[in-house]
Amino acid sequence: MLTYRPGDPGYDEHRLGWQRAFDPRPALIAAAETTDDVRTAVLTARERDLPLAVQATGHGMIVPADGALLLKTTALTGIEIDPRRRTARVGPGTVWADVNRAAARFGLAGLAGRCSTVGVTGYTLGGGQSWLSRTFGFAADSVVSADVITADGDELTASEHEHPGLFWALRGGGGNFGLVTSLEFRLYEVPRVFSGMSFHPIERAFDVLDAYRKWALDEPEAMNTAVLLLRLPPSGHRVLAIRAFHLGDDGRRILAPLLEAAGPPLLDTFEMRSFPQASDATNGPDAPPMAVRQEIEMFHDLPDEALHAIVEAGAPDSPSAFVELRHWGGAMAHGDGPAGHRDVPFSVMAVAPGLPAADIVLDRLVARLDPYRSGGSFLTLLTDPARTATAFTPQNYARLAAIKRVWDPTNFFHLGHNIPPEDPK
Ligand SMILES: Cc1cc2nc3c(=O)[nH]c(=O)nc-3n(C[C@H](O)[C@H](O)[C@H](O)COP(=O)(O)OP(=O)(O)OC[C@H]3O[C@@H](n4cnc5c(N)ncnc54)[C@H](O)[C@@H]3O)c2cc1C
Repeated sequence: MLTYRPGDPGYDEHRLGWQRAFDPRPALIAAAETTDDVRTAVLTARERDLPLAVQATGHGMIVPADGALLLKTTALTGIEIDPRRRTARVGPGTVWADVNRAAARFGLAGLAGRCSTVGVTGYTLGGGQSWLSRTFGFAADSVVSADVITADGDELTASEHEHPGLFWALRGGGGNFGLVTSLEFRLYEVPRVFSGMSFHPIERAFDVLDAYRKWALDEPEAMNTAVLLLRLPPSGHRVLAIRAFHLGDDGRRILAPLLEAAGPPLLDTFEMRSFPQASDATNGPDAPPMAVRQEIEMFHDLPDEALHAIVEAGAPDSPSAFVELRHWGGAMAHGDGPAGHRDVPFSVMAVAPGLPAADIVLDRLVARLDPYRSGGSFLTLLTDPARTATAFTPQNYARLAAIKRVWDPTNFFHLGHNIPPEDPK
């Protein structure tokens, strides 16, 4: 295991993650090279009474690991695909791009998200909303088993049959319950996907959002979509974009009412692709490390006032990077794990550079949406640690806190979205 203390060469390189909104100063960085190193790091943090932070990529950094032992799992990559059982097993440092490529060789795909450099484990433990989630559910719903190092340093496997309470909590409860050293999850047969984006003049924004909220009510489960008000690099030109990911070759027919509302496109990239190509085409280039602020709110209904707020936050002179209205539901409604709000169909997500001018726009968006939001969120997309509980239904949150009391009564795993153990009665 490689270790770095403040002042060591390599300390600065290893302490930073993708999210540059923080400037973390860990007391010690442990870059694991084996699973044993992970266990050693857990035991070392306990012995020295250091808080423990874990990082694969740093995409999900929401609190800085100041004064902590920062365990880096980045080097623990590795993928085994079992094409017969249609499963993948990955190391804790594995990122989605590698799974996408490895699974595609067998015509299979995992439930990857919008950025292929995101870590599979952190994403999945937090629920994981994929371009295929309306079709196959949350990524967490597809977990088959997890190898875990507990807060006491014990190594165990959690699955439907072994430690079922812990297994339930791992499928959406985030990094609260143990350090996952290996994750096994289901893959799906996805040989070709209708995917891409169409770009339209930003002036069409309100009409398309209006058409989308109505069209979405009949969206088939095979279709996954979002409407974005987006700044296009490198010009910064602001456009309206329709994104789609559909399992079937009739995507254009299904999207027709939306495309009609949007009018003639500036550019249309929809076509049938392999899953890794589809992922790239729908997401665009992966963003480099940066300081971002992100807001996520969920909605049962979207009145005109909410749509006007979205249009304003995505206006041509707005500093936001994008504002997205996305329709969920479908297969996401059926899982039994703690992930998400399965009955809330819409989310609005806004992402902006961490700048004062952008803060003003996002604060105003949040204030304007406030009367209409459900109060819920998605854990992986939530960056405010004070709102962790909003990612769960009250029943699921209470159950997670009870399971936390069993597996981590001292709240050792707390740096991140924290679910404190329930108070002993
Ligand atoms: C550009 C971008 C695009 C994204 N797109 C999506 C998307 O489409 N859908 C979606 O759902 N989310 C998305 N996310 C959010 C992403 O899923 C979360 O940020 C997630 O936490 C990232 O996991 P990571 O391991 O890459 O990040 P890290 O910062 O390395 O880890 C984040 C947290 O995950 C937990 N964790 C990581 N590894 C382990 C482990 N081995 N054991 C226990 N806990 C662990 C810890 O709590 C850790 O603090 C996106 C984020 C970004 C920045």
